[in-house]
Amino acid sequence: MPKNTKYTDVFKKFNTSPKGLSSQEVVIRLKKYGLNEIKAQKKDPLWLKFLRQFTDLMVLVLIGAALVSIIVAVIQKHYAEMSDAYIILGIVFLNAIIGFVQEYKAEKALEALQRLIAPKTRVMRNGQEQIIESKYLVPGDIIILAEGDKISADGRLFEVNELKVEESALTGESVPILKSTDIIEKTNTTIHDTHNLVYMGTTVASGSSKAIVVKTGMNTEFGKIAHMTVSTKKDKSPLQKELYRIGLFVGKITFVISLILFFVGIYYQDYSIVESILFSVAVAVAAVPEGLPATITIALALGIQRLAKKNAIIKQLSSVETLGSTTVICSDKTGTLTKNEMTVTEIQLGIEQTFIFEGSGYSPVGDIQYPKKYNQKDFHKLLEIASICNEAKHVQIEKRWNILGDPTEGALLVAAKKAGLDYEKSNIERLQIFPFDSARKCMSTVVKIKSSNPELFVKGAPDIILQLCNKIQIDGKIVPLTSAHKKSLEKNNQTMAEKALRVLAVAYRPNIPQKKLHNAQEYEQDLVFLGLIGMIDPPRLEVKNAVNLCNKAGIRVIIITGDYGPTAKAIGKQINLVNEKTKIITGVELNKISNSELKQILNKKESMIFARVAPDHKKRIVDILKTLDEVVAVTGDGVNDAPALKRADIGIAMGITGTDVSKEAANMVLTDDSFASIVTAVEEGRRIYQNLKKFVWYIFSCNIGELTTIFVAILLGIPAPLTAVLILMIDLGTDVLPALALGIDHREPELMKKPPRNPKTHIMQKAFVGHFVFLGIFIGLTVISMYLYDLYQLGWQWGEKLSSNDPIHLHASTMAFATLVLIQMVNAFNARSKKFSIFTLKSNYYLWGSVVISTLMVLTMVHQPWFQDKLHTVSLSPKEWTIIILTSLSVLLLEEIRKLIMKKNYSALAFKNIL
Ligand code: ATP
Repeated sequence: MPKNTKYTDVFKKFNTSPKGLSSQEVVIRLKKYGLNEIKAQKKDPLWLKFLRQFTDLMVLVLIGAALVSIIVAVIQKHYAEMSDAYIILGIVFLNAIIGFVQEYKAEKALEALQRLIAPKTRVMRNGQEQIIESKYLVPGDIIILAEGDKISADGRLFEVNELKVEESALTGESVPILKSTDIIEKTNTTIHDTHNLVYMGTTVASGSSKAIVVKTGMNTEFGKIAHMTVSTKKDKSPLQKELYRIGLFVGKITFVISLILFFVGIYYQDYSIVESILFSVAVAVAAVPEGLPATITIALALGIQRLAKKNAIIKQLSSVETLGSTTVICSDKTGTLTKNEMTVTEIQLGIEQTFIFEGSGYSPVGDIQYPKKYNQKDFHKLLEIASICNEAKHVQIEKRWNILGDPTEGALLVAAKKAGLDYEKSNIERLQIFPFDSARKCMSTVVKIKSSNPELFVKGAPDIILQLCNKIQIDGKIVPLTSAHKKSLEKNNQTMAEKALRVLAVAYRPNIPQKKLHNAQEYEQDLVFLGLIGMIDPPRLEVKNAVNLCNKAGIRVIIITGDYGPTAKAIGKQINLVNEKTKIITGVELNKISNSELKQILNKKESMIFARVAPDHKKRIVDILKTLDEVVAVTGDGVNDAPALKRADIGIAMGITGTDVSKEAANMVLTDDSFASIVTAVEEGRRIYQNLKKFVWYIFSCNIGELTTIFVAILLGIPAPLTAVLILMIDLGTDVLPALALGIDHREPELMKKPPRNPKTHIMQKAFVGHFVFLGIFIGLTVISMYLYDLYQLGWQWGEKLSSNDPIHLHASTMAFATLVLIQMVNAFNARSKKFSIFTLKSNYYLWGSVVISTLMVLTMVHQPWFQDKLHTVSLSPKEWTIIILTSLSVLLLEEIRKLIMKKNYSALAFKNIL
């Protein structure tokens, strides 16, 4: 049992060492132990997924009706009538194939994205630190854990620095447990008291450590209890839910209508029972937009795939919609607005000795401009503390210098090297580390230098460190820190911050008392101040444009940073985010103001900076913004950011610097950490929603067109222009591709010039419904007119009865069918914009492609003898096609005229958010 033996024995047992396994050994062990994976429940086989396509109520009704028709036809010995039923079954089958293929593709795309955010682990292999996908961990691997990491295997600890682990996934206990490397004597232990082990599925709440992997995959404690699926949430988006409700509503109405149509068919239109059943069911299927929710899922999934290409990985479908209606983005500064590439540019030793550092990036070359007079020992001590109280590594990878770990700490190592001080050669022993914590805003390390007493090295935010100091070292002498000193130091800090520098203070405690100290607070007292280090972290180049875009799109950006206010303000000014008047509210001030005061401040809708805040302040700000009905997107990277990320409408974690905990709590992960990617994602979210609206509008206008055609024919008492089979051909055949093409349409030109959409407003607003109802009726009347025109042309008289096989009827209904298909295709172009003439929009080649395919389909149905026989269509002449095409264009003309007339009124409507 690894917990009952010394860790040195565990090394032996697993034939490993702190340097880790070799690559060859890993391969052997992977073969022996398998991948480190929790086997999810078996997935449904493909045939089951295919069959599920037939479980839709409307499809079942259709299959039922076809079967009933076949039985009735057999009983009545009217075998010829069976062909319609067969064709309907054929259409349903084809539709199921299309649905299946699309769903399969969407699912694969989402799975590929899941892999992108698959957990990773820091390990030692071949004597080097590296990051690998957690599934490749094997027993004997050495894992390195830091705050916020998700632990991916069971391990025996052999090095700990104040490690606390949150084990609620296993024990239900959410208070983090303090870990150590000591042997446990007891043999009968629960997970709770095995303080020298870490478990898969738990997370590092604070501190850092190293452990030997002892169990992986299903052998871990987590694996033993994991009969659960590792589920990705399959939630429905608000739009999907709304359409589902609408579908049900339309379904109920249609049921009644179909019943009426059934009797009208038999008694009024002289249909046989079989024809009547099929006809009424076909109308029902045409009226209910049953495919919409599935098509929307596919469009959202494709949207998510597109977003991933733009560096934003979305975890739930519903977030895409919310994203588009974001009104406020609360953004971190470091790494999100800035590059997180730190370079020390200035050091203030004591009070007035300034050192200017040249050079950029992480290369350790660059001159230093030294002050005329300075104490070299003090200067070296400062750099030594900055380098030793430090967990980063400065490495050269393929001739390029780089940082492993925190860039702030890396920059300090580089600065020390520029001054000729190589920390790696130092013989200082690190006894204990209190790692950097964004709530404490400092880090300290207990060190032992040769045979002298242990000292404490400290670095952190100047305002915090100054409170812990009571002495200052000037010219090699330690003197009491007076209020005059403090004032000068605060001024120095301010001046550096106004130059957009991120400032750190360095201090130490020369003599740590002999008595046992228990925690960081007890150590970090009585400090001697040494100096300030200022580093530049330039804004990301792409951020300025993104901020401008937010301004135009009515999206407010609030900086919430752990950094010093003036630094944040200086950076904010460089990217046009704030101005001179922008208010800075500090964490300390936040503690003093009530929620209602904070609400008032946030309600002013001005630019704003919250500085020196702790992660719990972030959650409070999000809470208040939400009470103001804002749709809030929040960034975060640390463990303590998780509550704010969960609370936000869109929690955004950083893919590069973010902890596993924050990624798990977030709805979206940025693979490049950049603020600009958030804005791109919002833009994409708006575009996806806009496209969803386009095809909802299109499908409904088509369905109403079909219904109008049928009803007007009934009202006029003329023979039905469309048969059941033709209606289904249109609805499940020629309409599908243009609708999908609309789902991936380009964005409209003013997409990011409109204020955000109110997520509470429903898609089915009066103007929206009115518009598609109007055009649907127009389409229906046009088709009926074409039908009547053709009947008259062929010598039909009003009131004359026509059998369904009469050549006049067949010709006119083919004309009606072709007109309906073409006019709907033209209408798909109308759907692209309610405001802009389609001649001003960028071409959508998918839509053109879908039109070509649908046209070929309709030509085949009309001219190919086999189809003619089955669908009861007849060939049309070129002249007739010309008439059909010209007539179909009328719907485009109508819309273009409307757009021209409405142009002036649009801005007012858009402003009211109606469009
Ligand atoms: P943001 O929240 O915008 O990402 P941030 O990353 O600058 O801001 P923190 O990481 O909480 O915020 O840092 C707050 C302050 O703590 C910094 O201004 C700096 O003075 C100090 N600090 C940052 N990193 C370290 C570190 N590794 N060791 C010691 N002090 C640090």
